This record gives sequence, structure tokens and C-alpha cells, in this order.
Amino acid sequence: VKTIAQMYKEGLLQAPRQARVKRAPKVELLERISLFQGDITKLRVDAIVNAANKSLLGGGGVDGAIHAAAGPKLLSECRELNGCLTGQSKITRGYDLPAAHVIHTVGPVYSFDSSSGAEAKAEQLASCYKTSLQLALENSLKSIAFPCVSTGIYGYPIEDATHIALGVARDFAESEEGSKLERIIFTIWTQRDKGVYEDLLPLYFPPV
Ligand code: ADP
Repeated sequence: VKTIAQMYKEGLLQAPRQARVKRAPKVELLERISLFQGDITKLRVDAIVNAANKSLLGGGGVDGAIHAAAGPKLLSECRELNGCLTGQSKITRGYDLPAAHVIHTVGPVYSFDSSSGAEAKAEQLASCYKTSLQLALENSLKSIAFPCVSTGIYGYPIEDATHIALGVARDFAESEEGSKLERIIFTIWTQRDKGVYEDLLPLYFPPV
């Protein structure tokens, strides 16, 4: 898994051309953020994040893949948690996964749920990333890998979701408490999502 510092060096990421670029970060920050295309269940990190549903009892997409790879003990532990609210996160062990823990976060349903407006959904998605990062810190974890929460079955537009994910990660990684987190990995699965991350990462994490 390459850091974005390496990706700039190897020409896999280009300096941004757009105007809306954040001020340059410390070089150290570029060494703590990674982009990985592939199966999140294969990552040996302190925690992988699961894009779960409110029941926390498993589902399709990345949730199904995580439960399949972690084995039935994960579902047993999830049963004890009594579900989770949208925008909130809960942590379990990783069982048969190479990852030590799973942080289950519940993203907003975008396409077929009109109970809250676009702004509220953006807040909820930001909260998924914030509460997951916070849980990692509270449990003294050093590395965390996210999937593209809500952008699969839940239908959140990938560009908007990626702006939210990267904005939260930048603020958090730069904060004093967030500096304890040594590694944040954004996991993408599809080619389309890879292109979006390659376009937007340089806006939030421009080369030094
Ligand atoms: P949601 O219901 O939150 O939209 P999904 O599981 O449908 O969750 O999709 C979330 C993201 O996870 C999508 O970008 C999807 O392509 C991706 N995904 C699906 N399987 C995997 C996997 N094994 N590893 C990493 N990402 C995955």
C-alpha cells in the first residue's frame, strides 16, 4: 500500500491545477495517508471500517465481504451492540480478518430516503468518518482503512462523498490528537472511484 508521498514521487498523483487547494501540509502528513485499490478485508491494519447498516447484522457489498472474511464470531459480537444510529460508529474485534478490529459505521442512505435533506446527509457522512477516527484514537489504534462509505448500495454521489472523506481526514490528521494516528488508508474498489480519489486527493493533500 503506497503513501501519497510515494505516489507523487512516482508520478501516480499530479499536483492540482484547480484553484480550491488547501495550503500545503507538512511533508509528514503525506506519509500518513494512502490510497489502496483492492479488497479491504485483506488489509493488515489496526482497524478496517465497515460500511454497515443500522442493524449491524450484516448486509451486501463491503459489509458482506467483511462478515464473510471475519467469520461468525463477528456477527455474534455485533448482536450484542443493539445496532447503531446513522452517522455513528461502533468497534468490534476483527476475528479471522488480518485486521485487529472492525469499526462499523452507518452511512446515510442517499437515493431512496427523503427523511433528511442533502445537507443533513453530508453531516451524517462526515460524522461517520469523524466518529470512526475518534474510536481509533480512543482504542490507541495507529492505522485505519476506510471504504467509500455510502457510495455503493446507499447511493451517495462519489465526488461529494470523497470531498467529505478527504476534508475530515485532513482536519483530523493535522489536529493535535489526530497526529497519533500513523496511517489512514482510503480503499477504493472500482476504477471510477480510483479516478475520483486521484483527482481530489491533491486538493486536500497537495504536494509539499
Ligand atoms: P453502502 O451501503 O454504504 O453504500 P456498499 O458496501 O454498497 O456500502 O459500498 C461501499 C463501497 O465499498 C463501494 O465503493 C463499494 O464499491 C466498495 N466495496 C465493495 N466491496 C468491497 C471490498 N471487498 N473492499 C473494499 N471496498 C469494497
